[in-house]
Amino acid sequence: MPLVSMRQLLDEAAKGGYGVGAFNVNDMEQIQAIMMAARQTKSPVIVQASRGARAFAEDLYLFRLIQAAAELNPDIPIAMHQDHGNSFETCKSAIELGYTSVMMDGSLREDGKTPSTFEENVEVTRRVVEYAHPRGVTVEGEIGVLGGVEDGHGAGGSGLEHVTDPDQAVAFAERTGVDALAIAIGTSHGAYKFSKKPDGSVLKMDILIAIHKRLPRTHLVMHGSSSVPKELQDIVNQYGGKLKPTWGVPIEEIQLGIRNGVRKINVDTDNRLAITGAIRKVFAETPEKFDPRDYLKPAREAMAKVVAERMTEFGQAGHAGDYKPIPISEIAKGYANGTLTTQPLVAAK
Ligand SMILES: [Zn+2]
Repeated sequence: MPLVSMRQLLDEAAKGGYGVGAFNVNDMEQIQAIMMAARQTKSPVIVQASRGARAFAEDLYLFRLIQAAAELNPDIPIAMHQDHGNSFETCKSAIELGYTSVMMDGSLREDGKTPSTFEENVEVTRRVVEYAHPRGVTVEGEIGVLGGVEDGHGAGGSGLEHVTDPDQAVAFAERTGVDALAIAIGTSHGAYKFSKKPDGSVLKMDILIAIHKRLPRTHLVMHGSSSVPKELQDIVNQYGGKLKPTWGVPIEEIQLGIRNGVRKINVDTDNRLAITGAIRKVFAETPEKFDPRDYLKPAREAMAKVVAERMTEFGQAGHAGDYKPIPISEIAKGYANGTLTTQPLVAAK
Protein backbone atom coordinates (compact mmCIF):
# COMPACT_ATOMS: atom_id res chain seq x y z
CA MET A 1 0.00 0.00 0.00
CA PRO A 2 1.41 3.45 -0.80
CA LEU A 3 1.87 5.87 2.09
CA VAL A 4 -1.46 7.31 3.20
CA SER A 5 -2.56 10.86 3.98
CA MET A 6 -2.51 11.48 7.72
CA ARG A 7 -5.68 13.55 7.27
CA GLN A 8 -7.48 10.45 5.99
CA LEU A 9 -6.09 8.37 8.87
CA LEU A 10 -7.29 10.94 11.43
CA ASP A 11 -10.70 11.49 9.77
CA GLU A 12 -11.24 7.73 9.96
CA ALA A 13 -10.09 7.68 13.59
CA ALA A 14 -12.63 10.41 14.40
CA LYS A 15 -15.40 8.38 12.73
CA GLY A 16 -14.35 5.31 14.71
CA GLY A 17 -13.82 7.22 17.96
CA TYR A 18 -10.25 6.03 18.51
CA GLY A 19 -6.75 7.49 18.69
CA VAL A 20 -3.71 6.67 16.53
CA GLY A 21 -0.22 6.37 18.01
CA ALA A 22 2.54 8.31 16.26
CA PHE A 23 5.81 6.54 16.94
CA ASN A 24 9.23 8.09 16.34
CA VAL A 25 11.87 6.26 14.33
CA ASN A 26 15.59 6.63 13.63
CA ASP A 27 16.52 3.27 12.15
CA MET A 28 15.40 0.03 10.56
CA GLU A 29 14.75 -1.95 13.75
CA GLN A 30 12.37 0.69 15.10
CA ILE A 31 10.41 0.75 11.84
CA GLN A 32 10.26 -3.05 11.84
CA ALA A 33 9.10 -3.06 15.47
CA ILE A 34 6.21 -0.71 14.63
CA MET A 35 5.22 -2.82 11.62
CA MET A 36 5.36 -6.04 13.66
CA ALA A 37 2.98 -4.47 16.17
CA ALA A 38 0.71 -3.02 13.45
CA ARG A 39 0.42 -6.41 11.73
CA GLN A 40 -0.22 -8.22 14.99
CA THR A 41 -2.95 -5.78 16.10
CA LYS A 42 -4.22 -4.87 12.58
CA SER A 43 -3.66 -1.17 13.21
CA PRO A 44 -3.32 1.86 10.95
CA VAL A 45 -0.26 3.76 12.10
CA ILE A 46 1.65 7.04 11.98
CA VAL A 47 5.43 6.79 11.73
CA GLN A 48 7.26 10.03 12.42
CA ALA A 49 10.78 11.40 12.18
CA SER A 50 12.19 14.42 13.97
CA ARG A 51 14.77 16.69 12.36
CA GLY A 52 17.36 14.89 14.46
CA ALA A 53 16.22 11.51 13.15
CA ARG A 54 16.37 12.69 9.56
CA ALA A 55 19.90 13.97 10.10
CA PHE A 56 20.97 10.79 11.91
CA ALA A 57 19.70 8.60 9.06
CA GLU A 58 20.85 10.91 6.25
CA ASP A 59 17.20 11.42 5.27
CA LEU A 60 17.10 9.04 2.35
CA TYR A 61 17.94 5.88 4.31
CA LEU A 62 15.00 6.51 6.61
CA PHE A 63 12.57 7.39 3.84
CA ARG A 64 13.48 4.34 1.77
CA LEU A 65 12.96 2.16 4.86
CA ILE A 66 9.46 3.59 5.26
CA GLN A 67 8.75 2.87 1.62
CA ALA A 68 9.90 -0.71 2.22
CA ALA A 69 7.57 -0.93 5.22
CA ALA A 70 4.66 0.23 3.06
CA GLU A 71 5.51 -2.25 0.32
CA LEU A 72 5.90 -5.18 2.73
CA ASN A 73 2.67 -4.37 4.57
CA PRO A 74 0.02 -3.81 1.90
CA ASP A 75 -2.83 -4.18 4.42
CA ILE A 76 -1.62 -1.51 6.85
CA PRO A 77 -2.34 2.21 6.25
CA ILE A 78 0.88 4.09 7.11
CA ALA A 79 1.28 7.88 7.24
CA MET A 80 4.82 9.26 7.24
CA HIS A 81 5.06 12.44 9.29
CA GLN A 82 7.69 15.11 9.94
CA ASP A 83 7.72 15.67 13.71
CA HIS A 84 8.35 19.26 14.91
CA GLY A 85 9.33 20.99 11.70
CA ASN A 86 11.05 24.21 12.78
CA SER A 87 10.67 26.15 9.52
CA PHE A 88 8.94 26.29 6.16
CA GLU A 89 12.11 24.86 4.55
CA THR A 90 12.18 21.81 6.86
CA CYS A 91 8.55 21.01 6.01
CA LYS A 92 9.11 21.63 2.29
CA SER A 93 12.08 19.24 2.22
CA ALA A 94 10.01 16.51 3.91
CA ILE A 95 7.20 17.01 1.37
CA GLU A 96 9.66 16.87 -1.52
CA LEU A 97 11.01 13.59 -0.15
CA GLY A 98 7.51 12.08 -0.06
CA TYR A 99 6.31 12.49 3.53
CA THR A 100 2.50 12.48 3.60
CA SER A 101 2.26 14.77 6.63
CA VAL A 102 4.27 17.52 8.31
CA MET A 103 4.17 19.30 11.62
CA MET A 104 4.99 22.98 11.46
CA ASP A 105 5.83 23.79 15.05
CA GLY A 106 5.52 27.56 14.83
CA SER A 107 5.05 27.82 18.59
CA LEU A 108 8.83 28.19 18.68
CA ARG A 109 11.06 30.30 16.46
CA GLU A 110 13.37 28.61 13.95
CA ASP A 111 16.01 28.00 16.66
CA GLY A 112 13.56 25.47 18.14
CA LYS A 113 13.91 27.06 21.59
CA THR A 114 12.44 30.57 21.75
CA PRO A 115 8.65 30.87 22.03
CA SER A 116 7.26 32.83 19.06
CA THR A 117 4.40 35.33 19.00
CA PHE A 118 0.90 34.25 17.99
CA GLU A 119 1.15 36.23 14.74
CA GLU A 120 4.52 34.65 13.83
CA ASN A 121 3.06 31.21 14.48
CA VAL A 122 -0.03 31.88 12.32
CA GLU A 123 2.08 33.27 9.48
CA VAL A 124 4.59 30.42 9.14
CA THR A 125 1.97 27.71 9.70
CA ARG A 126 -0.37 29.18 7.07
CA ARG A 127 2.51 29.32 4.63
CA VAL A 128 3.18 25.61 5.15
CA VAL A 129 -0.54 24.80 4.73
CA GLU A 130 -0.59 26.75 1.45
CA TYR A 131 2.36 24.71 0.19
CA ALA A 132 1.27 21.32 1.57
CA HIS A 133 -2.44 21.07 0.74
CA PRO A 134 -2.12 21.45 -3.05
CA ARG A 135 0.31 18.51 -2.82
CA GLY A 136 -2.13 16.43 -0.77
CA VAL A 137 0.01 16.63 2.36
CA THR A 138 -1.45 16.97 5.86
CA VAL A 139 -0.35 19.73 8.27
CA GLU A 140 -0.24 19.65 12.06
CA GLY A 141 0.23 22.96 13.87
CA GLU A 142 0.95 23.73 17.50
CA ILE A 143 -0.59 26.38 19.70
CA GLY A 144 0.79 26.89 23.21
CA VAL A 145 4.28 25.65 24.06
CA LEU A 146 5.11 22.15 25.27
CA GLY A 147 7.56 21.55 28.09
CA GLY A 148 10.91 19.79 28.06
CA VAL A 149 13.51 19.34 25.34
CA GLU A 150 13.95 16.40 22.96
CA ASP A 151 16.48 16.04 20.16
CA GLY A 152 17.59 19.60 20.94
CA HIS A 153 14.08 20.87 20.25
CA GLY A 154 11.97 22.51 22.94
CA ALA A 155 11.55 25.52 25.19
CA GLY A 156 12.38 23.52 28.35
CA GLY A 157 10.36 24.11 31.51
CA SER A 158 7.53 22.07 32.98
CA GLY A 159 5.03 22.62 30.18
CA LEU A 160 2.81 24.75 32.41
CA GLU A 161 4.34 28.10 31.38
CA HIS A 162 2.47 28.32 28.06
CA VAL A 163 -0.68 26.20 28.37
CA THR A 164 -2.94 26.61 25.30
CA ASP A 165 -5.64 29.27 25.57
CA PRO A 166 -8.90 27.89 24.04
CA ASP A 167 -9.77 31.23 22.34
CA GLN A 168 -6.32 31.33 20.72
CA ALA A 169 -6.74 27.71 19.62
CA VAL A 170 -9.98 28.68 17.81
CA ALA A 171 -8.37 31.71 16.13
CA PHE A 172 -5.31 29.68 15.17
CA ALA A 173 -7.37 26.88 13.60
CA GLU A 174 -9.50 29.41 11.68
CA ARG A 175 -6.57 31.42 10.35
CA THR A 176 -4.20 28.57 9.41
CA GLY A 177 -6.46 25.77 8.07
CA VAL A 178 -4.40 23.07 9.79
CA ASP A 179 -5.65 19.47 9.73
CA ALA A 180 -4.50 18.65 13.24
CA LEU A 181 -3.71 20.77 16.26
CA ALA A 182 -1.12 20.03 18.95
CA ILE A 183 -2.02 21.68 22.22
CA ALA A 184 -0.05 22.29 25.41
CA ILE A 185 -1.80 20.95 28.51
CA GLY A 186 1.19 20.45 30.79
CA THR A 187 2.88 17.54 29.00
CA SER A 188 6.61 17.56 28.35
CA HIS A 189 9.01 15.80 26.02
CA GLY A 190 11.62 13.32 27.27
CA ALA A 191 11.63 10.78 30.10
CA TYR A 192 11.45 13.21 33.03
CA LYS A 193 7.94 14.51 32.66
CA PHE A 194 6.67 14.51 36.22
CA SER A 195 8.35 13.97 39.60
CA LYS A 196 5.18 12.38 41.00
CA LYS A 197 2.10 10.67 39.53
CA PRO A 198 0.43 13.52 37.61
CA ASP A 199 -2.97 14.75 38.76
CA GLY A 200 -5.23 17.67 37.79
CA SER A 201 -2.64 20.19 38.98
CA VAL A 202 -0.09 19.25 36.31
CA LEU A 203 -2.11 17.73 33.49
CA LYS A 204 -4.73 20.23 32.32
CA MET A 205 -7.31 17.84 30.92
CA ASP A 206 -9.99 20.49 31.61
CA ILE A 207 -8.26 22.77 29.08
CA LEU A 208 -8.22 19.95 26.52
CA ILE A 209 -11.93 19.34 27.07
CA ALA A 210 -12.64 23.09 26.76
CA ILE A 211 -10.75 23.24 23.44
CA HIS A 212 -12.61 20.18 22.12
CA LYS A 213 -15.96 21.80 23.07
CA ARG A 214 -15.05 24.92 21.03
CA LEU A 215 -13.50 22.93 18.13
CA PRO A 216 -15.52 19.70 18.07
CA ARG A 217 -14.30 18.57 14.65
CA THR A 218 -10.60 19.47 14.95
CA HIS A 219 -8.19 16.57 15.39
CA LEU A 220 -6.23 17.24 18.58
CA VAL A 221 -2.70 15.94 19.14
CA MET A 222 -1.10 15.02 22.46
CA HIS A 223 2.69 15.32 22.45
CA GLY A 224 5.05 13.94 25.06
CA SER A 225 2.58 11.16 25.81
CA SER A 226 4.77 8.27 26.80
CA SER A 227 3.52 6.60 29.95
CA VAL A 228 7.07 5.84 31.15
CA PRO A 229 5.97 2.63 32.94
CA LYS A 230 7.91 1.66 36.03
CA GLU A 231 8.54 -1.87 34.64
CA LEU A 232 10.51 -0.42 31.72
CA GLN A 233 12.51 1.88 34.01
CA ASP A 234 13.21 -1.07 36.31
CA ILE A 235 14.67 -3.26 33.52
CA VAL A 236 17.05 -0.46 32.50
CA ASN A 237 18.16 0.09 36.10
CA GLN A 238 18.35 -3.63 36.96
CA TYR A 239 21.01 -4.07 34.29
CA GLY A 240 23.23 -1.14 35.15
CA GLY A 241 21.19 1.89 34.04
CA LYS A 242 20.87 4.96 36.24
CA LEU A 243 17.42 6.42 35.54
CA LYS A 244 15.95 8.63 38.24
CA PRO A 245 12.35 7.78 39.25
CA THR A 246 9.92 9.50 36.87
CA TRP A 247 6.27 9.48 35.84
CA GLY A 248 4.73 9.81 32.40
CA VAL A 249 1.19 10.43 31.18
CA PRO A 250 -1.18 7.75 32.57
CA ILE A 251 -3.00 5.73 29.90
CA GLU A 252 -6.35 6.66 31.49
CA GLU A 253 -5.64 10.35 30.87
CA ILE A 254 -4.80 9.65 27.23
CA GLN A 255 -8.02 7.65 26.91
CA LEU A 256 -9.94 10.58 28.43
CA GLY A 257 -8.28 12.73 25.76
CA ILE A 258 -9.34 10.30 23.02
CA ARG A 259 -12.95 10.62 24.22
CA ASN A 260 -12.48 14.38 23.78
CA GLY A 261 -11.10 14.82 20.29
CA VAL A 262 -7.51 13.54 20.62
CA ARG A 263 -6.72 11.56 17.45
CA LYS A 264 -2.89 11.47 17.40
CA ILE A 265 -0.77 10.49 20.37
CA ASN A 266 3.01 10.91 20.18
CA VAL A 267 5.09 8.21 21.85
CA ASP A 268 8.88 7.98 21.81
CA THR A 269 10.35 7.63 25.31
CA ASP A 270 8.58 4.34 26.10
CA ASN A 271 10.12 2.74 23.01
CA ARG A 272 13.58 4.11 23.81
CA LEU A 273 13.34 2.63 27.31
CA ALA A 274 12.19 -0.77 25.99
CA ILE A 275 15.08 -0.91 23.51
CA THR A 276 17.71 0.18 26.03
CA GLY A 277 16.46 -2.25 28.69
CA ALA A 278 16.56 -5.19 26.27
CA ILE A 279 20.08 -4.36 25.07
CA ARG A 280 21.40 -3.86 28.61
CA LYS A 281 19.94 -7.22 29.62
CA VAL A 282 21.84 -9.04 26.84
CA PHE A 283 25.07 -7.19 27.67
CA ALA A 284 24.74 -7.97 31.40
CA GLU A 285 23.68 -11.61 31.08
CA THR A 286 25.85 -12.70 28.15
CA PRO A 287 28.87 -10.39 28.06
CA GLU A 288 30.64 -12.80 25.71
CA LYS A 289 28.26 -11.93 22.85
CA PHE A 290 29.28 -9.41 20.20
CA ASP A 291 27.03 -9.98 17.18
CA PRO A 292 24.74 -6.89 16.99
CA ARG A 293 21.84 -9.15 16.02
CA ASP A 294 22.07 -10.81 19.45
CA TYR A 295 20.90 -7.59 21.10
CA LEU A 296 19.07 -5.79 18.26
CA LYS A 297 16.59 -8.65 17.86
CA PRO A 298 15.44 -8.63 21.51
CA ALA A 299 15.46 -4.81 21.38
CA ARG A 300 13.16 -4.86 18.35
CA GLU A 301 10.86 -7.37 20.06
CA ALA A 302 10.73 -5.31 23.26
CA MET A 303 9.72 -2.20 21.30
CA ALA A 304 7.11 -4.13 19.28
CA LYS A 305 5.53 -5.30 22.54
CA VAL A 306 5.19 -1.74 23.88
CA VAL A 307 3.86 -0.42 20.55
CA ALA A 308 1.26 -3.23 20.34
CA GLU A 309 0.11 -2.41 23.88
CA ARG A 310 -0.32 1.27 23.00
CA MET A 311 -2.18 0.41 19.77
CA THR A 312 -4.64 -1.62 21.81
CA GLU A 313 -4.96 1.05 24.52
CA PHE A 314 -5.48 3.88 22.00
CA GLY A 315 -8.19 1.87 20.20
CA GLN A 316 -6.60 1.80 16.73
CA ALA A 317 -6.19 -2.00 16.90
CA GLY A 318 -8.46 -3.82 14.46
CA HIS A 319 -9.06 -0.77 12.23
CA ALA A 320 -6.41 -1.31 9.53
CA GLY A 321 -8.93 -2.80 7.11
CA ASP A 322 -11.77 -0.32 7.65
CA TYR A 323 -11.02 1.81 4.61
CA LYS A 324 -9.20 2.03 1.30
CA PRO A 325 -6.41 4.55 1.05
CA ILE A 326 -7.23 7.60 -1.07
CA PRO A 327 -4.33 8.47 -3.43
CA ILE A 328 -2.48 11.62 -2.38
CA SER A 329 -3.40 13.26 -5.73
CA GLU A 330 -7.10 12.76 -4.88
CA ILE A 331 -6.52 14.22 -1.41
CA ALA A 332 -5.03 17.30 -3.10
CA LYS A 333 -8.18 17.64 -5.22
CA GLY A 334 -10.28 17.26 -2.08
CA TYR A 335 -8.55 20.25 -0.49
CA ALA A 336 -9.00 22.26 -3.71
CA ASN A 337 -12.71 21.55 -4.16
CA GLY A 338 -13.58 21.83 -0.47
CA THR A 339 -14.63 18.22 0.19
CA LEU A 340 -11.74 18.18 2.67
CA THR A 341 -12.60 21.17 4.82
CA THR A 342 -9.88 23.28 6.33
CA GLN A 343 -12.19 25.61 8.20
CA PRO A 344 -12.95 24.32 11.69
CA LEU A 345 -16.44 23.94 13.06
CA VAL A 346 -16.53 26.45 15.92
CA ALA A 347 -19.01 26.06 18.74
CA ALA A 348 -20.15 29.00 20.87
CA LYS A 349 -18.67 29.36 24.35
ZN1 LIG B 1 6.45 16.68 20.33
